[in-house]
Amino acid sequence: MPKDVKVIIVGAGLSGLALAQCLRAHSLSNPGCSLTYELYERDEGITSRAQGWTLSLLECLPGFSGNFPPDMPPLDASVSATRPACFNSEGRIFNEEGKPVMTAGGVAQGEPGYFLRADRQALREWLGHKLNIQWNKVFESYTETASGVHVRFTDGTTASGDVLVAADGASSRVRAQLLGVEDSKQTMPPIALIIGDVKLNKEQTERQLALSKAWWLYNASPPKPKLFVGVRSLQVAADSIIEGGLFFWFLMWPDTDVPQQGKKHWLQGASREEQISKARDLAKELPELLREVVDASEASGVVLPAVQFKEFTPPEKLPRGRVTLLGDAAHAMTPFRGQGANTAFLGVWDLTDALFKVETGDIETLEDALKHYEVEMLPRGRKNMVAAQGAFTKDAKSYAKDMAERYGRDSQDK
Ligand SMILES: Cc1cc2nc3c(=O)[nH]c(=O)nc-3n(C[C@H](O)[C@H](O)[C@H](O)COP(=O)(O)OP(=O)(O)OC[C@H]3O[C@@H](n4cnc5c(N)ncnc54)[C@H](O)[C@@H]3O)c2cc1C
Repeated sequence: MPKDVKVIIVGAGLSGLALAQCLRAHSLSNPGCSLTYELYERDEGITSRAQGWTLSLLECLPGFSGNFPPDMPPLDASVSATRPACFNSEGRIFNEEGKPVMTAGGVAQGEPGYFLRADRQALREWLGHKLNIQWNKVFESYTETASGVHVRFTDGTTASGDVLVAADGASSRVRAQLLGVEDSKQTMPPIALIIGDVKLNKEQTERQLALSKAWWLYNASPPKPKLFVGVRSLQVAADSIIEGGLFFWFLMWPDTDVPQQGKKHWLQGASREEQISKARDLAKELPELLREVVDASEASGVVLPAVQFKEFTPPEKLPRGRVTLLGDAAHAMTPFRGQGANTAFLGVWDLTDALFKVETGDIETLEDALKHYEVEMLPRGRKNMVAAQGAFTKDAKSYAKDMAERYGRDSQDK
């Protein structure tokens, strides 16, 4: 590497934080190394914005131990959605008749098929461990010169470095400048969605945990509604008895009205009462035990504003220069295969590897390193985005088979 290289990262979400950790790990194990980072985030702090629900970490897991600093707190105990009970994360898929057709995980760390159901907020805090994050920095624009890349924030301050990594999420402003506003646009899949949070008592929680320990999906074939339910947190007494829990649910159904440009879908303006009434109505089609979370929900638990899924398909290649995309900024996908963050982290491991290779001389220039990274990241992002898209419309049997393959388990829905 010809000189010291500074990586400017915009966005301290999952992928931006993970990249910064990899660079911190590198400087810890190589004192005096030439790679440094500066991390800029629009939020006021790590807990200032609600982070949403929970997510499953699977393919990306080995990379944490390989790339992160040795001084990180233990991952599972820090972020597991079922802490402090910390069950082995387990997911289950039920078919239209309410019969279980696939079980994911439920095995201990290190065993085949293991995955980790992580609380998003706890994961973000864990990823931010010992990082220097510059808060309240909203990216506005960048310019590239022969000597570097210069970033401007909305507060009028600037930052300069050798590479700009856009980790600013699905609606990336850096991407809009890199690709142009038209080519950077997201699309909305034709899926309507109502989200609810619900606090359950001891008996209700026990029934949910008997269905599955971390998440379950009622997966009727389209056009019937699907219901995804997950544990947000458990209330555990000192003697380890579970006294209740906070759960979330996503009720989803195909709806071609959703993506119509310029036309507001009715859910966007619907009140909590209207949404819970629609949800209860749709849930009537489900077996009684599986609709308990919706039946037990109050209107106050409905999440507003209504969420719409968004997608962004990565282009074949990015304009070559000093700017690249990472995570959802590069490939935003629907959550039907639980793969967005996994794909983002795999990109982090690849980008880290490419940057280190410039330092060791295995890759000649920074531009070559970005190319090297994008050759892996862009096709993987496209493939996973398309797979997630197809997962919603798949018939229930093929979906169970697909997920069983992904989780290394058997599908009982032969
Ligand atoms: C409902 C749902 C469930 C999901 N479940 C799973 C799952 O089970 N498994 C899985 O792998 N993935 C899942 N995902 C996907 C996963 O959440 C995303 O892929 C992941 O968060 C992407 O990380 P990221 O760092 O690229 O973006 P983000 O986590 O969105 O972070 C982007 C960061 O950039 C900041 N930012 C944005 N604009 C600016 C700006 N102009 N200036 C400065 N900072 C800015 C934001 O504040 C944010 O902190 C799910 C997604 C959803 C919506």
